[in-house]
Amino acid sequence: MGYISETELSDLVEQAKDYASEGKVADYIPALKYANKRDLSIAMVSGNDMLAAGAPEQPFTLQSVSKILTFAIVLDDLGFDPVYQKVGVEPSTKSFNTVTESYNHNKPLNPMINAGALAVTNMISGKGTAEKLEKILTLVRRMAGNPAIEVNSSVASSEFETAHVNRALCYLLKSKDIITGDVDELMDLYCRQCAIEVSCQDLARIAYVLANNGVDPDTNEEILPSSVARIVTTTMAMCGMYNASGEFAVNVGVPAKSGVSGAILAVVPGKMGIGIYGPSLDADSISIAGRQLLQQLASRLKLSIFQT
Ligand code: GLN
Repeated sequence: MGYISETELSDLVEQAKDYASEGKVADYIPALKYANKRDLSIAMVSGNDMLAAGAPEQPFTLQSVSKILTFAIVLDDLGFDPVYQKVGVEPSTKSFNTVTESYNHNKPLNPMINAGALAVTNMISGKGTAEKLEKILTLVRRMAGNPAIEVNSSVASSEFETAHVNRALCYLLKSKDIITGDVDELMDLYCRQCAIEVSCQDLARIAYVLANNGVDPDTNEEILPSSVARIVTTTMAMCGMYNASGEFAVNVGVPAKSGVSGAILAVVPGKMGIGIYGPSLDADSISIAGRQLLQQLASRLKLSIFQT
């Protein structure tokens, strides 16, 4: 990557690992509770270069990181205005599955909290769950440059069986006419999108496509229109870390999205894509060691987009 060596990156990972003991692995989705708390890995992609430390090929599920992909799909299909009529782009002050803050002017505050993400998934067009899921998988595979990406079915069914709050959110959204159709069908698709299995290398490559205005760095093909990449990245900066987005902007300063599996995807526009996995979570449901690692890296490499 030029300004940081593999050894230096491995040292940062080792130092950040110590924070893992202060956090907790997510267990409200039963299948996630078997993760090893001390795991911590990172991959960074810039152009065709990759730098990594830890176990960058270890698989984990996208969880909420999938929300940026479904948001990209509906923005690309429908355009910003129709999507914005149903889901805002304002930061929230509560956790990802907030019920009370799911509305601002009668619509979910943003597509990164569950209420907004469920509304977005409901906007994906297609004949049935299989066709809609294929759209999501096609996008993930293209962005990651990895045609082997699949859904981890046992994580998907584990969440489906226990998704009581998400189901409640769906019924609230239905009562406001923000979503239509069968709630269990939507929950099935949503749980599968969250259970898409990737590695840090995949995450970093997905992030790099966003950093690269939607263009594939190997083929120069447009995967997403640059306007979609811009809206997704902006929304990540404002809302990607939920109620911690402001603090994260101050201390790290790059658009990012977290997932309860311990995934963090971070975009350094025009420069770099970063993928991190560390399953021990802090009180904001963000990877505790991953957040620390990203903060150290951002300060070391001056990654903040808010200062040149
Ligand atoms: N699948 C998870 C849920 O809906 C995603 C939440 C997250 O990663 N923050 O609860």
